[in-house]
This record gives sequence, C-alpha cells and structure tokens, in this order.
Amino acid sequence: MDADAPGAERPDAPPVATISEALGRQTNNVAEYTGLLRALALAEELGAEEVALLLDSMLVVEQLRGRWRVRDARLAVLHAEALARLGRFRRWSARHVPRSENRAADALANEALDRVAAGGPAVVVRRPGEGIRAEAATRLADAPADVGDARPGAPPARARRAAVRDQIPLGLEPGFDPGDAGPEAGELRVRILGSGTSQGLPRIACDCATCTSADPRDRRLRASALLAWGARRVVVDSGPDFRAQALAADLDRLDAVLLTHSHHDAVGGLDDLRRFNEIADAYLPVHGLPGVLGVVVARFAYAFVPGQDAFRGLPMLRPVAVEGPFEIAGRRFVPVPVIHGEGPVCGYRTGSFAYLPDVKRIEAPSLALLQDLDVLVLNAVRDEPHPAHQTVAEALAVVDALRPRRTYLVHLDHELRHAPLAARLPAGVDIATDGLELRVPR
Ligand SMILES: [Zn+2]
Ligand SMILES: [Zn+2]
Repeated sequence: MDADAPGAERPDAPPVATISEALGRQTNNVAEYTGLLRALALAEELGAEEVALLLDSMLVVEQLRGRWRVRDARLAVLHAEALARLGRFRRWSARHVPRSENRAADALANEALDRVAAGGPAVVVRRPGEGIRAEAATRLADAPADVGDARPGAPPARARRAAVRDQIPLGLEPGFDPGDAGPEAGELRVRILGSGTSQGLPRIACDCATCTSADPRDRRLRASALLAWGARRVVVDSGPDFRAQALAADLDRLDAVLLTHSHHDAVGGLDDLRRFNEIADAYLPVHGLPGVLGVVVARFAYAFVPGQDAFRGLPMLRPVAVEGPFEIAGRRFVPVPVIHGEGPVCGYRTGSFAYLPDVKRIEAPSLALLQDLDVLVLNAVRDEPHPAHQTVAEALAVVDALRPRRTYLVHLDHELRHAPLAARLPAGVDIATDGLELRVPR
C-alpha cells in the first residue's frame, strides 16, 4: 500500500502492488519470513524510503522487534536477512494485525495455490498501474477450484484447504472463540498449588507482620496451578516449590506442563518432573510460547535431549511450541498473551477458566479472549505500583472490565496480609490460598 493514500494504515486498504507466490511445502514460519523478504525487496525496488509492516504472524513481529529469540536455524538466516533489508530503509515498524483483518493477503495465498494447481506460474508480481484489483478479482473468479482432484464428488480444493487450515493453530490473534472443551473434558477441577510471589511467603529472614503471621493463609509457595479433568492432570508452571506441591496434592500422574513464562519462579522445578517420566515411561510434553521454550531449553538443555530410550536419571521433556489454541486430551487451551516485564508471557484459558499469574497489563486483544469466564485467577502483588505485576487496584480494574463470575487473586507479596486484604475486596473477588480447590463447570 502507498502510505500517502488515505486509510493506508488499514490492512484491507487497496494495494498498489502485490506478490502472490506458491512456495511448495514449507513451515508456516518459513512462509511468513519469505513473504516478508519478497515484500521488502519489492518495496525497495519501488523506491520506498520507509516501511510499516502489517503482519499476522505474532512470531515474526516479536522476533523483528528483538523481544523473542530466534531458535530455529532456518528462521535465523531469514530473520538476519530481513533485519539487513530493513536497515536499508530510513525507518521501519512492524505491527501485528489479526489474521481476520488480513483477508487480502490470505486471498493472494489462495490465488497462488489455485494458479499453480491449474498449471500456472509460481510467482505473479503486480506493480503500480497494472490494474491489480480487477486482475486479482478475475483470477480468483476464474480459478478452477477442482484442478488436480480426480475423485468424483470430492469437496473443492478450497474447502479442503480450509478444513486443513482450521486444524492448524492459528496464531495468537484476538477474537478466537475458545469453543467447547471437548468430549473428554467435562468439569474442570483446579487446585492452586502455590499463591505466592517469586520469593514465596514468608520471605527468608523477614520479620514483617505477614512473614511472621500465625495465619496459615499467609504461607504461600510459588505460583502454580493443577488442572484436572477425568484422569488427566496438567500443571501450569513448575517452579522451585514443585516437589513440595506435588507431594501435597498427591500428584501421581502428569500429562503435560504448561509454562506461562521463563522466570525462575515458573520453571525452577522442571528437574523434579523426571519422576513423571519414571511413572509413565514416556517423554513429558512442556508447552510454552516459542520464546519461553527457547530460554528454558537453553537453561535446562540436559532435560530436553530427544531420542533417549533409557532413563539416565534425567528429566525427559519434549518442548511443544504454543503458537495458538491447542488441545490436550480433548480439552482446548487458548494462550492469552499478556505484558509482564521483559520477554514473551502468556496465561491460559480453558473452557470458562482462565489462569493469569504474572501480569502487568492485558491489552485489548487478550481481554477479548477472557469474556464470559466462570473463574478467573489473576495476580495482584501489592498496593504500591510494581514494574512487572498488577497492584490490587489494577487487578480489580481488570475484574471490573471482564466481570468473571468469580475471581481469585494470586502471586501476593508480603505487603498483603490475607485477613485485611480479604476484608476490603468486593463481592465475587477472593484471595487464592495454597491448596484451594475449585470446580469449574466447563
Ligand atoms: Zn515479610
Ligand atoms: Zn515472572
């Protein structure tokens, strides 16, 4: 799009130039980067001095901004080339747009697939003055939908692609319907394994009123939650208190671990997961945003060695990148990106339950993922402003905006003593305590 044209900042603005290219079999991320490189080359050719990228891949946006690390070797090459090309412009920016707003780009991808299926060229580049819109419309209308499909009565190619695409995680765009939890799901049971801040309560060698409180509710292990449905057991975060928490909960199986982020209070207990390798005689999947897994795999490299056939006393963890909604044993999980200090962080929603233990701010697209909740578990660290966490007031503002049926505050620091805080919370908002068990209807 020509940035001087009115409305050019909108992803659906009329383009002055397009590229449509079939890449053969590639991963989504290679395709995203390839598209980016082609577009930058064309922008340069057309004499652009500044570029504003509207990208529907959160991964590419965050990696270009340097906030997510690039772990994959193939992507690292493409990423480096993209930064080199961007450096030739006077100014550049990259913004994430939801895929639903990027239909024009999607149409170009479909056009390329249909064209190649019909024996046409792999690449079509249209430059300014070449009548793009009319030509694109004609091509889309004329494209034979069923070329290459010999089976009588088979659904058209476009419908088959859409069906496959619907099964592929769609990225972290907003407005995604969490949908039904699935047949095996039923009621969700949640146990708060830990409700404290990163140091836990009491703090070591602190004689403040909370740390010396006789109220057992003022003892808080590091934040973690156990989710159970049917026989399934999943923990969100596995911090340095994981062993004590697993023993307290009598945890005797574990199907997966979900990580919210890579801070030590969320991942410091990964080594103790090896007990569940012994029990199940299998690798344990560890789900997290790509940037979180990058840090964790680097820190616990010995626990992520693939292809081991015998245990050597080491954890055997299998990293599973979270790039959109995913399923574990029939239950659907939706990552909810949030702001919390540096680096990528998310919470998770499943059914009508959401768990957000490490949050400074929730932006509008993520708020949209948190509508109609029965139970929200949300952090509130203290009353004074904190660089990485919500205050009590900030948490209550989120509750006001979302109106979940029940809310439990977690990740409390020692400025917050249970009893006086509980006395000033509004109806429907409680404080989570270690060992608290919740039932969520769906
Ligand atoms: Zn204290
Ligand atoms: Zn943290």
